[in-house]
Amino acid sequence: MITSKNYNVDVLVAGGGVAGVSAGLTAARAGLRTLLLESQISLGGLATNGYISGVAGMVEGNCKEWLDRIDAEGYLYNRPHLPTFDPERAKLILEHMLLEAGAKILYGTYVIDAVVENNNIKEVVCHSKSGRMGIAAKIVIDTTGDADVAAYAGVPHDVGSPEFAGLNMSTTLAFRMANVNMSMYNEAVKAWTAKETADNRIPTRMSLIEELEEKAVENGDLPFFIFPTALIYIVPGTPEDDADVNVITTHSFHTRNLDVEDLTRQVIEQRQQITWIEKFFKKYLTGFEKARVTSVASLHGVRDSRRIIGEYILKDEDIACATKFEDGIARFPEFYDTHHPTSPKLGFMRHIHLNEPKGAAVCRPAQCSDEMHPFGKPGGYEARKNPGDYCEIPYRSLVPLGIDNLFVAGRCVSAEFNAVAAVRVIAPSMTTGQAAATAASYCLKDNILPRNIDGKLVRKAMIEQGVPLDKEPDGYWAYLRELKGEHVVAPGDFIGVMTPNGFRR
Ligand SMILES: Cc1cc2nc3c(=O)[nH]c(=O)nc-3n(C[C@H](O)[C@H](O)[C@H](O)COP(=O)(O)OP(=O)(O)OC[C@H]3O[C@@H](n4cnc5c(N)ncnc54)[C@H](O)[C@@H]3O)c2cc1C
Repeated sequence: MITSKNYNVDVLVAGGGVAGVSAGLTAARAGLRTLLLESQISLGGLATNGYISGVAGMVEGNCKEWLDRIDAEGYLYNRPHLPTFDPERAKLILEHMLLEAGAKILYGTYVIDAVVENNNIKEVVCHSKSGRMGIAAKIVIDTTGDADVAAYAGVPHDVGSPEFAGLNMSTTLAFRMANVNMSMYNEAVKAWTAKETADNRIPTRMSLIEELEEKAVENGDLPFFIFPTALIYIVPGTPEDDADVNVITTHSFHTRNLDVEDLTRQVIEQRQQITWIEKFFKKYLTGFEKARVTSVASLHGVRDSRRIIGEYILKDEDIACATKFEDGIARFPEFYDTHHPTSPKLGFMRHIHLNEPKGAAVCRPAQCSDEMHPFGKPGGYEARKNPGDYCEIPYRSLVPLGIDNLFVAGRCVSAEFNAVAAVRVIAPSMTTGQAAATAASYCLKDNILPRNIDGKLVRKAMIEQGVPLDKEPDGYWAYLRELKGEHVVAPGDFIGVMTPNGFRR
């Protein structure tokens, strides 16, 4: 039995990850009655509960405000690229921001269905300790990461890579370690990089960890090669020579991220990997001699599942070609972060294939391996993004086909596989959430459907809200733009630049 409950809301945000909080914040600040549903008991999704505590992309708009607040409380390691936060403090601040704005939150509330009439979501159906409940709203913003509401409402969507028979990107269960000497670790990485790039050489491996892991497998200290690198994010506020860190390195391959049996397989095998990695780090990695695992993320690191089909599908080639749009509402300066669906050794696939070189893409005739493309080599040209350029996400990618009162934001916007693998990161996820709520306020004020809004107006409103879409990116991105030299492909399928002063990435 479904109980219908009238919360008298204008905007219902489903999913309290960074995209959802950003949407809820903007909607509530626009004076809209806003309710946010979250299946867990805290906010931030993968960024906090998944221990993904380093922010990629351009820190602008709501994302900047959030990081500034974390910084003011002393829980941000503020650096030009990948600023790093303490997930516990970060989720608390998200909650404060949302409540201060006047939004209401329901925790422990799982969206399980949608009732649709005349192309409108009449009720979002959810399950909680209160039982099954239908909640009505004028506009729904789906920020579940998996486009659950959109799927239940019948919005067309894609899943996985067409090149890999629909497999998703590999997944990662992150964990926290204590008693790490980050100063020693950073010195070891610096020395390794200096050795690998001496005499202006391109490194032969992706990371120090790759080299050590090969040794550990050879010595029988690891049962198999897990992944060629690790993101190690210090928890700000902990001392550098006795730090807590979040570690992102376990991996499951050949994943189907909408299949509960496969998701369970992934979590079980990655929990096992964590015990192996703890021993491996202690024995081989400088600075980790005394380290121990203190906790495992409560949210499994699923990088992708559904991608909705919207009014515009952001194309894989838009990323490489750094496409700009008249209705661009967010921008993306990083590379394809496509975690390889099948190869632990390669780790990533950071290029796409084009028949001919095109636009701003950095292209070379295809020369990638069978392992990179195990289902058949595409040929043509490998295309990578120029590190100095950026692509925009158009407003239309947030507007799903088929349903009239729905927006989708965050890591499940309308985009092809490699494009979503790029723009799914934290900063643009927050900006798409902000844009969806900005557009929602136009819809309600002018009684207009999302697909009939002029996206240029949403772009203008985002600029007025302080997202500098009208200005060239500065800081780290300006540094990348200025790097002059030959583009070279480095391990990890990264594009680097061979400058007169050596290899830079
Ligand atoms: C292992 C890994 C490493 C990454 N590394 C980085 C990195 O270093 N830097 C970076 O910027 N990005 C990184 N990313 C990407 C980034 O973390 C995420 O893509 C981004 O945080 C997505 O935010 P989101 O709000 O769209 O989705 P999510 O964070 O997935 O949030 C969705 C929220 O909705 C809730 N929810 C889901 N379904 C329902 C439902 N049916 N009902 C109610 N609630 C629901 C979830 O509990 C969650 O809180 C990484 C991702 C992964 C998985």
